[in-house]
Amino acid sequence: MAKIFCVANQKGGVGKTTTTVNLAAGLAKVGQRVLMVDLDPQGNATMGSGVDKRQLKLTLYDVLLESASIAEARVKSDKLIEGGCSYDILGANRELAGAEVELVDVERREKRLKEALAKVSDEYDFVLIDCPPSLSMLTLNGLCSAHGVIVPMQCEYFALEGLTDLVNTIKQVHANLNPDLQIIGLLRVMFDPRITLQAQVSDQLKAHFGDKVFDAVIPRNVRLAEAPSYGVPGVVFDPASKGAQSFVSFAQEMVERIQKM
Ligand code: ATP
Ligand code: MG
Repeated sequence: MAKIFCVANQKGGVGKTTTTVNLAAGLAKVGQRVLMVDLDPQGNATMGSGVDKRQLKLTLYDVLLESASIAEARVKSDKLIEGGCSYDILGANRELAGAEVELVDVERREKRLKEALAKVSDEYDFVLIDCPPSLSMLTLNGLCSAHGVIVPMQCEYFALEGLTDLVNTIKQVHANLNPDLQIIGLLRVMFDPRITLQAQVSDQLKAHFGDKVFDAVIPRNVRLAEAPSYGVPGVVFDPASKGAQSFVSFAQEMVERIQKM
């Protein structure tokens, strides 16, 4: 049975997609079977895994509308296979934005992804879900499916403020829809230890959230930002870079964490 994690933060541009694709590649690199689900109509995680979102015949949209199964809609990426870090991809494109409206009158609409994942769960060790920057019905589908939430965050003042909203949403989903759900951890990303404020916020996070803060820290690293334009995660694009190495360490930390879950 796969452990299922959402990578979520309603704040935009904080590094959710970078975390999802690099963690997926890092987990594949250490021998884990991974399915990456792109829950964002922007389709960045799809493109960043080497799959052209415009060419996809079936996507998460078809799965949510129950016109296809995950087994039918998932794809592999040649670039990831060549890079030796292959994971399966359930892709998304702008069509997915329509699902929100089309599912309005459907019963149990927030459970569609959970039910679809249950059928392939045995084939994977990890399922990683890249959430959009909102607390929408799509994100709710992700949160209802997951055992835990990974929250990437930049160590800035307003990051802490946004965290309160996310923590409250997770508490509500936990109480009403998914008793399994918990925050697995906060991941410090785009970190620059030379910036005093970042070091201070990092200390505050550890004081407040204790071992919910992952040991792994992802530095600000230009190779991670360059990788998407080549259609691969940084872990594949430049395995020797500091950014790639930090994501492989994070993958190892996740493997250890799920053994304790
Ligand atoms: P959205 O909310 O739009 O989905 P996101 O939270 O998924 O955004 P990303 O797309 O992962 O955020 O990252 C935002 C930008 O920051 C991208 O241009 C990405 O390449 C860059 N970036 C992410 N992480 C790092 C890093 N560790 N070092 C340098 N650049 C990074
Ligand atoms: Mg994103």
